[in-house]
Amino acid sequence: MEELLRQTADLAAEFLRQLPERPVGPPVDPAGLQAALGGPLPDGPIDPRQVITDMAAAADPGIVASAGPRYFGFVVGGSTPAALAADWLTAVWDANAGMCVSAPAAAVIEDVAAGWVLDLLGLPSTASVGFVTGATMASFTCLAAARHAVLAQSGWDAERDGLFGAPAPRVVVGAERHVTIDVALRYLGLGSDRVLVAEVDQQGAMLAGSLQALLEAGDGPAIVCAQAGNVNTGAIDPLAEVCEIAHRHGAWVHVDGAFGLWAATTPALRPLLAGVSGADSWATDGHKWLNVPYDSGLAIVADPHAHAAAMGMTASYLVSASAEPDPYTWTPESSRRARGIPIYAALRSLGRAGVAELVERCCALANRFAVRLGAADGVEVLNEVVLNQVLVRFADSDEATREVVARVQADGTCWAGGTTWQGRGAMRISVSNWSTTEADVDRSADAILRAFAAS
Ligand SMILES: *Cc1c(COP(=O)(O)O)cnc(C)c1O
Repeated sequence: MEELLRQTADLAAEFLRQLPERPVGPPVDPAGLQAALGGPLPDGPIDPRQVITDMAAAADPGIVASAGPRYFGFVVGGSTPAALAADWLTAVWDANAGMCVSAPAAAVIEDVAAGWVLDLLGLPSTASVGFVTGATMASFTCLAAARHAVLAQSGWDAERDGLFGAPAPRVVVGAERHVTIDVALRYLGLGSDRVLVAEVDQQGAMLAGSLQALLEAGDGPAIVCAQAGNVNTGAIDPLAEVCEIAHRHGAWVHVDGAFGLWAATTPALRPLLAGVSGADSWATDGHKWLNVPYDSGLAIVADPHAHAAAMGMTASYLVSASAEPDPYTWTPESSRRARGIPIYAALRSLGRAGVAELVERCCALANRFAVRLGAADGVEVLNEVVLNQVLVRFADSDEATREVVARVQADGTCWAGGTTWQGRGAMRISVSNWSTTEADVDRSADAILRAFAAS
């Protein structure tokens, strides 16, 4: 075992050493990967050292350098050293973090991490926190709590009696919500198509007046899904107004802040999130801007009773080891890995100043992209760069923009995806990695402008 782990550590170190200079999105040959990794299930055992060496070698051509400094696709973070090392130990300890009795240390570490996250994000210290797989399941969890609370207002017990025959809550979303809000609503039986859609401004932020008109047009229980950090533009809904209007109508406010909530960690950006602490639930990710390895989201609910009513469980053999609720009270799973441990390590190693610096640096680098690219003839930046997202359009043409995106991806210096923003094709650049430098941005901007010149 020891030799295997040392050998694996060497493989990992070598990968990380090469990561900054790997072609960022190599052309992938799925058939070649299949041939190298596939074949029939072996009849007998193979030495684990051999399995790991072979798998690492065979997988290598299919590994995208998304953990590296010049991957700007989607909203993807890398892994800070402390978070990565803690993730390894989490697997080594292999504790079932659902219960205090099976993972007392993990329960305490996660409890501490939860407190730090609430403090950093400026959320109520009394809120409950569930460590889930990502923002999708965080919204699912939070909206389950919302469903419980708004139906309880009408005297209906959604957990016991289900939704058939229940008073139908109104669900308001912004026109530029993330698609995973629709998915969460679908999982919850609230339906993705029966939502009321509030209009948004040019940056994709919800118009408070539109929300107000929708809520005034009807009555009964309601849930409002707001957003902090539009996945294209970075725009943040006017949260103070949204909360004020929604609460005046007795509605629950959920904030999808997968990456945008982290803007609260720096005084420079905190005003964008004014009023955020007045919401009822918040979904965010550890694996995006905090740069923790994947499988890391946080479901945060202001009212722990609603959270526990939606997610908790009891069984005769589930004997609690402490006076505190067991961690499974806050997540959809019973057994799970101790996802909060890498978050704890990331926060402890960065400290308050380090998190703020990471967030500010990514925003400054996004701005650097916008300035460098926007200065070139025929290149237009489509969004106000408020956070770490930049939308770039070339030659005011969908076709030219698509071609530049394809050339950039094939070139391998950096990777950025394509999108459509309010009917216009764009390249989407997200700066979310802890290790990205100004030199990386300059090198990537040069590659993008070269691709445009060649198209
Ligand atoms: C990424 C993202 C999500 C989904 O998060 P996952 O971690 O992929 O589940 C939801 N909302 C927004 C705004 C996002 O950027």
